[in-house]
Parts: sequence; C-alpha cells; structure tokens
Amino acid sequence: MPTEGGASVRDDLVACPDCGLLHQIRQPRPGHRAECTRCGAVLYRRGRGGVHHALPVALTGAALLAVIVLNPLMGVHVQGNDREGLITSGIEALADQGMWPLALLVGALVLAAPLARVAGVVTVLACLHQGRGPADPRKVARLFAWTEKLRPWAMLDVFLLGVLVGYSRLKGFANAEFLAGGLALGGYVLVRTAMDQTLDRRAVWTSIDHVPPIDAPPPARWVACAVCQRIHGFADAPPAHCTRCASRLHRREPDSLGRTAALVSAGAILYVPANLLPVMTVVNFGQGAPSTIVHGVVELAEVGLWPLALLVFVASIAVPVLKLAGLSWFLVAARRGSGKRLHARTRLYRIIDSIGRWSNIDVFMIAILAALVQFGAVASIRADAGAVAFAGVVILTMLASHVFDPRIMWDRAEPEESPHGR
Ligand SMILES: [Zn+2]
Ligand SMILES: [Zn+2]
Repeated sequence: MPTEGGASVRDDLVACPDCGLLHQIRQPRPGHRAECTRCGAVLYRRGRGGVHHALPVALTGAALLAVIVLNPLMGVHVQGNDREGLITSGIEALADQGMWPLALLVGALVLAAPLARVAGVVTVLACLHQGRGPADPRKVARLFAWTEKLRPWAMLDVFLLGVLVGYSRLKGFANAEFLAGGLALGGYVLVRTAMDQTLDRRAVWTSIDHVPPIDAPPPARWVACAVCQRIHGFADAPPAHCTRCASRLHRREPDSLGRTAALVSAGAILYVPANLLPVMTVVNFGQGAPSTIVHGVVELAEVGLWPLALLVFVASIAVPVLKLAGLSWFLVAARRGSGKRLHARTRLYRIIDSIGRWSNIDVFMIAILAALVQFGAVASIRADAGAVAFAGVVILTMLASHVFDPRIMWDRAEPEESPHGR
C-alpha cells in the first residue's frame, strides 16, 4: 500500500462529505457526476473538458475581471448631473459614510476574493499545462486548496444581482445605464459558470499528485481531507495534515455543534435589528426616507417589478429564517441522536449551505447605490446601521453552515456502525 508520512494514502476511494460513507470511485462520463449511494450528495462532478481546457476559460475570466475593476459599472443622470460608479467607488462610499465594517466586507467579497481566486486558478492551471506535472506539487496543491476555500466567498455572481436590483430601484427618480464594467460583469458571471462546468477539480488534484488505485480493501481506520478528498488510512493516531494539499485533517469538524450553536444564536439576535432598523436612507429633494429590508421589497412590488421583489424577499427575508430554523433543527436532532428524517435534514443542509451566499444581494445593492447616488440635497443615498446588522446575519449564518458537520447527524443516529472514519 502506498504510504506517505506514515499514513497509507488512497486516491481511488472517496468519502461522502455529507454522511461520511466511503465509496470506491468509478469514473463518471464527462459532464456527469457520481453520487453518494446513501444520502445522494455529489461525490465527484466530472468536467466536460480536461484540465487543459480550463486554462483558456480561466484566462478569459481574468481578462474580464480586469475590465470590471478598471471601468465604471453604471452611470446615473439626475437633474442634469452625471455620476459614474466603479466597484471601488461603492467600497469608498461606504467607508466615507463611516460604515467601515460594511466597506471591508464588500471589498473582501467582490474584489479581494474574486481576484485572489482567479489568480490562483490561472497559476495552478498554467503550472499543470506543460503536461509533465508541476515541478513542486506541494506548493501547487497548497495554492489550489486556497482557491477552493475561497470559492464560496468570491461573490461577483451575487454582486451582479445586487447591481440589477439597484438599477431597478433607481428607475423611480434617475436615468441609469450600464457601462463597460457592468457589461463585463455580466460576461464574467457567464464565464465563471462555464469555468465551474469545465474545471474538473478531481482531475486537477490528480494532475498535481496522485497515487494509483490498488487492489486492496479500504483501510479500517481512515480520515478524509475535506479540501482535496484524499483518504488517509492510519493505525494508531490520524495524521495531522493532508499529504497532498497540507490542509488540517479532522475526522469531524472540531467542536462543530458548539460553534454552530454560538453562530446561530448570534445570527438570530442580529436578525431583529437587521429587519427593524433602516438599511439605507434615500434623500430626494431634501426629503429623507429611511428604508428597511421589507420596505425595499414593497417598493419593487409597487413599481410592478414582481420577479425582483420576489427574489429579494426570498434572498433577504426567507433564506436567513430558513437557515436559522434549519440549523437549529439539525443541532437539536444531532444532540438527541435522532434518526428521524435524516435524509430530509441532509438535503435541507445542502440547500442551506449552497444558497446562503445569495442573501448578500441587498448588501451589494446598498453599496452600488451609495456610490452612484450622491447629488447632495437633490438626491443621495446612504447606508444605515440596519445594513451592518443585516450583513452580520448573512455572514454569521454562512459561517454557521460551513462549521456545521452534517456527518455528525449520521454518526449519532447510528452510533454502533461508526467506530472510526466513515
Ligand atoms: Zn452520503
Ligand atoms: Zn488534501
């Protein structure tokens, strides 16, 4: 059996991230996926192209990102005054209004994370492009592990929806138009989707470092890397770090239930001011009107934009409640060791974990409106305290669903079957 650093290493096995069941991986056809036989989680999605096909797509994404960062997204005309807004203008406007936490958050999610992720993916794919494997696999693996960890936090796709909602809300009192940066943003989101379709993550990991399959039963005791999925068998103590990507190895997320409970409680407390306090104030001809999250939904519906009103209602009001209620249910069920509705809970967990980031639409809308609508007493928009509380709810619940380990629900429901690993 191949061994690295004292642990036996297997790349022909994959553990379900949601229920922990170990599978022998069979290569699905291009564009298809392998699913967990017990809970239905996606174990492996095979990309449509090889690793080499992903590099041109990633380079196109990088070029579009440069256009987005350097060019204005939208222009606004109010009473003969013009103003254009870049991504950075939204961050600056929030900082100027004293909303530092919000400025830093928006900067991290729509600027730093997407730039770092695209730079990392391009570097990794370029290193693999020669076809002989990278000169220093450990460094490339570490870099790819970072880009994978950044993936949910790079939010230009959510930002695009925030910009569209902002554009619709401007229609009442200003002429707005999309400029080069805004059009590139639309293009980038299409390319990002294409990149997620073509980039075969397992093939990238395999190209960086791979141990060939062996004809032997799975190890009795093992731990899976949460980032690159490598299975590490061990005899006495589990290895501390993954032998491929150097991520820390844990059989289960440490203190998952306690940390999830703390984050859910903090999110639930902030949910109250997030909905009661105004998230922004719109000044129109000297008259200031504070606007809450609910008011924003009503306003979109009043001007007949029902699909957008529904979208914002779901993203900003329904999804945070679903996340807080769902995670609380999982915590109670895991603590009780309940096996009831285990499959339904696991499916709901997957939904909550994947849609949580879309609740940032309103945060991004406020950033873009605060940048664009600065015409003094004629018209101006500023962010208010409710926006900080709302962004806090979104981030705390995202962290809670990341920290919650659904495998614990399966362990506790069937404790007699899981002495180690699984
Ligand atoms: Zn599973
Ligand atoms: Zn790893």
